[in-house]
Amino acid sequence: ARTEHSRFRDVLARTADGERVTLHANVGVASDLTIARENGAEGIGLYRTEFPFIVRDSFPTRAEQVRIYGKAYEVFPAGPIHFRLLDLGGDKFVAGGHVATARGAFHGYRSIRVLFDHPDVLRDQVQALALAAADRPLRILIPMVTSIEELRRLRTLIGQAIADLDEPRAQRAPEIGVMIEVPAAVELAVDLSREADFLSIGTNDLMQYALVVDREDSRMAAFSDPYHPAILRMVARVAAAARAAGKRVGVCGEIAVRPDVALALMALGVDSLSVVPTAIPELKQALAGARLEPMRRAMGAILALSDARSVAAALRDAQLA
Ligand code: PEP
Ligand code: MG
Repeated sequence: ARTEHSRFRDVLARTADGERVTLHANVGVASDLTIARENGAEGIGLYRTEFPFIVRDSFPTRAEQVRIYGKAYEVFPAGPIHFRLLDLGGDKFVAGGHVATARGAFHGYRSIRVLFDHPDVLRDQVQALALAAADRPLRILIPMVTSIEELRRLRTLIGQAIADLDEPRAQRAPEIGVMIEVPAAVELAVDLSREADFLSIGTNDLMQYALVVDREDSRMAAFSDPYHPAILRMVARVAAAARAAGKRVGVCGEIAVRPDVALALMALGVDSLSVVPTAIPELKQALAGARLEPMRRAMGAILALSDARSVAAALRDAQLA
């Protein structure tokens, strides 16, 4: 049965007072791509590349990866697709093989630290992405960045991997974005904005690290509060840094599915929201019924609130205003 919000699938996200936000989808497997398309995503804000590495005993070859990433361009020929480099460890772990990472090792051996140790894996992935993109634009997202050195090191390694390809069509320089998902990256947002091509705020991990909440422990769920004032203030700082540097900034954590939070993110200057594909029509419908202007006007006062209940109440009031 067609639901009421299904008519929002084919329209762009817009508030009642005509303000636009780009709505992207988070995907992890090929079938998500068609679901994203069918639900009216304008592109892929976060392509989680870990799945084929996790479900099998051995890593996919470069040729297999070219096929996998190529599917994304088939479903979204005009893009944009933000491919995240392998973010293994923690909730996306591989138990065996030569790149073993541990479940729950959120402060342990994970993500780009693993890639620095396995340059062959990084190189295969970057080359597969460049080959899949061919002459289309390629956007690469770097997870778990904690320092400017990591960004510079990855930029060099990505450049080398692409330069070593024989295929002239794949030689285009990719746009390189940084995920802001640890408190250190929030502190460095001004510096990272200068050198990155775009930023993407990963609130799932940012909340886990900033609020000290294991994202896999259901007993901690209540502490993972999207209305915690520290989270809103961190997002505000990152968005301001990106805008001052003239760089795009998106949010790809799940908090953006809440209409009041989505509106607040827009008011803070976030350009795009990336959410689970099936949430897109409903989010569009909710945004179409709300005005951004009252949220913009209230934002200064909301950022000064010290407790989560007050933040939640103020966001709701501004959404309904
Ligand atoms: C995040 O951390 O907010 C994020 C979007 O990435 P993931 O959930 O894959 O860690
Ligand atoms: Mg993350």
